[in-house]
Amino acid sequence: MSNDVKKKAKVSNLPKAKSFSEKSLADDLGHHFYYTLGRDQLTESHHYLFQALAYTVRDRLVAKCRKTLHARAAEPSKQVAYLSLEFLMGRALSNAILNLDLEDDVSQALQQYGCDLESLSEAEHDAGLGNGGLGRLAACFLDSCASLALPVTGYGIRYEYGMFNQSINNCQQIEQPDNWLREGHPWEISAPEQSQRVKFFGHVETHKDKNGRVHRVWVNSQDVLAVPYDVPVPGYQNDVVNTLRLWKSEATDEFDLEEFNAGSYTEAVAKKNLAEQITMVLYPNDASENGKELRLRQQYFLCSATLQHILSQWVQKHGNNFDKFHEFQVFQLNDTHPSIAVPELMRLLMDDYELSWDDAWQVTSRSMAYTNHTLLPEALEKWSTALFEYLLPRILEIIYEINARFLTQVTYQWPGDVEKQRAMSIIEEGPSPQIRMAYLAIVGSYSVNGVAALHTQLLTSGLFADFYQLWPERFNNKTNGVTPRRWLSHCNPKLAALITEKISDGWVADFSQIKQLRHYFDDKKFIAQWQQVKTDNKKQLAALIQKECNVEFDPSMMFDVQVKRIHEYKRQLLNILHVIHLYERVRNNELEDFTPRCILFGGKAAPGYFMAKLIINLICNVAKVVNEDPACKPYLRVAFLPNYNVSAMEVISPATDLSEQISTVGKEASGTGNMKFMMNGALTIGTLDGANIEISEAVGLENFFLFGARSEQVADIHAHYQPQTTIDNSPNLQRVLQLLASGHFNLFEPNKFQPLIDSIKDPNDQWLTAYDFDSYVEAQEKANIAYQDQHYWQQLSILNTAASGQFSSDRTISQYNQDIWKLSKG
Ligand SMILES: *Cc1c(COP(=O)(O)O)cnc(C)c1O
Repeated sequence: MSNDVKKKAKVSNLPKAKSFSEKSLADDLGHHFYYTLGRDQLTESHHYLFQALAYTVRDRLVAKCRKTLHARAAEPSKQVAYLSLEFLMGRALSNAILNLDLEDDVSQALQQYGCDLESLSEAEHDAGLGNGGLGRLAACFLDSCASLALPVTGYGIRYEYGMFNQSINNCQQIEQPDNWLREGHPWEISAPEQSQRVKFFGHVETHKDKNGRVHRVWVNSQDVLAVPYDVPVPGYQNDVVNTLRLWKSEATDEFDLEEFNAGSYTEAVAKKNLAEQITMVLYPNDASENGKELRLRQQYFLCSATLQHILSQWVQKHGNNFDKFHEFQVFQLNDTHPSIAVPELMRLLMDDYELSWDDAWQVTSRSMAYTNHTLLPEALEKWSTALFEYLLPRILEIIYEINARFLTQVTYQWPGDVEKQRAMSIIEEGPSPQIRMAYLAIVGSYSVNGVAALHTQLLTSGLFADFYQLWPERFNNKTNGVTPRRWLSHCNPKLAALITEKISDGWVADFSQIKQLRHYFDDKKFIAQWQQVKTDNKKQLAALIQKECNVEFDPSMMFDVQVKRIHEYKRQLLNILHVIHLYERVRNNELEDFTPRCILFGGKAAPGYFMAKLIINLICNVAKVVNEDPACKPYLRVAFLPNYNVSAMEVISPATDLSEQISTVGKEASGTGNMKFMMNGALTIGTLDGANIEISEAVGLENFFLFGARSEQVADIHAHYQPQTTIDNSPNLQRVLQLLASGHFNLFEPNKFQPLIDSIKDPNDQWLTAYDFDSYVEAQEKANIAYQDQHYWQQLSILNTAASGQFSSDRTISQYNQDIWKLSKG
């Protein structure tokens, strides 16, 4: 944009590395409240005080961010661009205060204003720019990269509307738009001078230059402006502040100039909306693709803007010489969503910087790295070539060429094997040919990783087996992790203080130290303190559930929790069938060894996902029946907490006794909720799926409530699956399904839940609900017995936290860096 502005203004009199003391903090808070926001005692409100504090903290972040940038500019080294369509950041204020070590200063400053940090923090909207695990992983990774002082920048989209807000009305999910920017976003700083132009539509022409060289030129495109907004990402008490750059779409000024000149001034200006639509809303589908054109536009918009920005920075320093580009730059693709970066980088290098195909391919295929997140076929992205043809014509040409050259390699490896070519082709043939984005990502990357040991093994032996044969060295595993700052230090301050009292505070920055807790697992006083913290946390969660659900949770009962996106593969249905089983036991007075439980569900269903919404409906109906039955009160309470999000999880995970991780084996790539619960001392009931395997190995199988089919058995089970026979052989399941079919939970809506019953009885049921039911009930009974011995349960709880060291995202990121990125710190 303004690269041609050669003259730089001389900025003298910049703030001298301000000493940010407690006194200046209180002064700055007042300054921002009065001057930046224009408020005084007449307009006092928590919201403006929150904003003033956010600006005060941001000042300190900006100072460190500039320092970080200058230090890196002085000594250029390799950097990573983490490309993700989702960043599920949650709230930033208390995280920043923790990472900047400002807790005491802020508390003291706030005293002068008669308020406390906790209540101000609540005024912040969650930044909900993601659906679930994948987006939250990106957020945890940013925290770890900054905390490890790695030069990693996140690139994403500044959605005007984030993940929808969920409310429950008549036991049904209602979606409400999440207008999270309405009251302003104090953390971001825009950089319009670094805006980029992104092309759409138009067509491709061949031009010959004066040297006779042939160029393909993308003409008549309709361009959209990408404007960057930077959000600071503080490392943990290490003076590093990295950046998350979010792009917003805007109309270019010459938008629809023709119409403009034809006299339709107002109409032309109004049409600017089309450009701004691109970043209007996050698609709320988790683990499934909907193939909407606007979604593809979002993907291309993010990739094109990011790549243009990074290339222009490179060219400013090195000119058009890209020989060493891959030694200085990695693009990590968070799933296939940004995989269009592969052909886009080819296009920019060839069309804008005049590299040959071979040179451009060297640069591209040595700088891209791809992370796969799923094995579900319905989640594998495909786009029709027809859509590309009209939306991104030049990109389609390049994809065809990548594929042609790739298939030559396949032919070389497997001569005459046409079937292999068909199977591995980036283009899936058919009446409407489709681009297989995962194959595009693999072909264009030097690293392909899965997100848990089992997941990677299933990828290389199944979905990507052919590619693994061709390029075994390209594939690797990086088991997911979560940041112990947000998911222990910040969300569970009482437990964090107790841990620090015992093993000092080194664990926050080096989470492998958490294993030292094992030494105290026989310490009676410590066990009692551990239990007391859990009880306090359960009281806090109970207050939230009382307020949101009007259900009374009793902290002396077991808190049994399943919160995550609602999806058939995650099997909330199996859990609610167990609840119905417990309800039957109470009704029939089968109370021997009954452990009273409060069972909590939470999670959003994709708005168009009928079965997931029906499962929410069933959970809420069962909750209603159970909670209204006085006979159940001493034994059973059930709640569905609306609007599960990061902030809710910060209250839920510290208060959980039993963590439900019960996906159909082979379906959950990793899971990260499982890790947050473990860190906070929950015991897990789960299948041997995703990272559960590694969790059960770390804590010991004897301390994990394992159940269900094993991944090696699944193919065989499906081949002979007769759910009706399974049901006939299970008195418990029979009784549960009979009660469900009788309409006991849907008195006024006959047959409402028939689709759920049918799915369980379907021999093609992918989710094996009936198959795993008895073994699930048996594992639940083991949990009941264990919980009755509270001393023993608390010991297992301590062991879980102590064994959670490897599930820190610091470990994950160190491995990305060692094996894939190879950055030096700085
Ligand atoms: C951790 C987290 C998830 C992922 O949970 P899983 O149980 O791994 O699916 C989803 N949403 C939120 C808000 C989270 O914090």
